[in-house]
Amino acid sequence: FEKILIAHHTKDELSEMAMTFNRMITRLEKSYLKQEQFVSDASHELKTPLTVIDSYVKILKRWGKERPDILEEAIDSIGAESSRMKYLTEQLLLLAKAEECIENEKYKVNIVPIVEKTIHRLQQAFKHEIYLKSEQREIHTYIHEPSFVQVLVILLDNAKKYSDDDIKVEIKEWEESVSIMVMDKGAGIPFEAQAHVFDRLYRVDKTRSRKTGGSGLGLSIAKRIVEQHDGYINLESVEGHGATFTVTLPKNGGVTR
Ligand code: ADP
Repeated sequence: FEKILIAHHTKDELSEMAMTFNRMITRLEKSYLKQEQFVSDASHELKTPLTVIDSYVKILKRWGKERPDILEEAIDSIGAESSRMKYLTEQLLLLAKAEECIENEKYKVNIVPIVEKTIHRLQQAFKHEIYLKSEQREIHTYIHEPSFVQVLVILLDNAKKYSDDDIKVEIKEWEESVSIMVMDKGAGIPFEAQAHVFDRLYRVDKTRSRKTGGSGLGLSIAKRIVEQHDGYINLESVEGHGATFTVTLPKNGGVTR
C-alpha cells in the first residue's frame, strides 16, 4: 500500500498529506479531551443536587412522619434541586444538539423581526423593560434560527438575572457582518472574571448565581453557537456598571466566496 502511495504522489504531496493527517489527529485529540472534560464537569455538577436529594430522602425516611417542619423543608429542597437538575440536563442536551444542526441547517433570513419576536416573547416574563434599537428594518444573514434565538435568550436571561434595570438591545449592520448587543445596567463582571465567563460551568459568584438558578453553562453554549456561525462574542463590563455582550456574525454565514 505504501509503495502504491509513494508511486502516485510526489514527495511534497506526501509531506502535505502527512501534515494534514497530523492536524486531523491533533484536532481529534483536542475534541476528545474537551469531551472528556465536559463529561467530568457535567457529572460533577449533577452530583451536587443528587447528593442533596439523597440526604433529604434519608432524613424524610427517619423523621418525615413525626416532624412536619422537616417534611416541608425536605420537599422544598428536593423540589428546588430537581428543577436545577432538569435545567442542567436540558442545557446539556441543547448543547449536543446544536452542534449537529448549525452546520446543516443555516438559511438566509431577515434577523430584525426574529430579534423583535424573541424580545416580545420574553417581555411577558420579564419585569424589566427591553428596548430594541435597529437602524435597518432588514438585515439578511445566514443563521440556524433556533440556535440564534437560543443565544439571544441566554443573553437576555442573564441581563434579567443580574440586573434590576431596563435592558437595551441594539442591532448594527456592517458591510460584511451584523452585531447584536445586549446591554444591562446591573452588577457587571469583575475584570479578572471576564476571561472566564464563557468557560463551561464557570460562575462569578457561586452563591449569587445559585440563588438565581444559574448553571454556568449559558454563556459557553452561546459562545459555541456563535463560533459555529463563524462569528464571535465579546463582553465589555465595568464592575458595578452593567455588562454589554456583543454577538457579531458574518452575513454570509461563514461561507467563503
Ligand atoms: P449562569 O447560568 O450561571 O448564568 P452563564 O454561563 O450564563 O451561567 O454565565 C456565567 C456567569 O457569568 C454567571 O454566573 C454570572 O456570574 C456572570 N454573568 C453572565 N451574564 C452576566 C450579566 N449580564 N451581568 C453580570 N454577570 C453576568
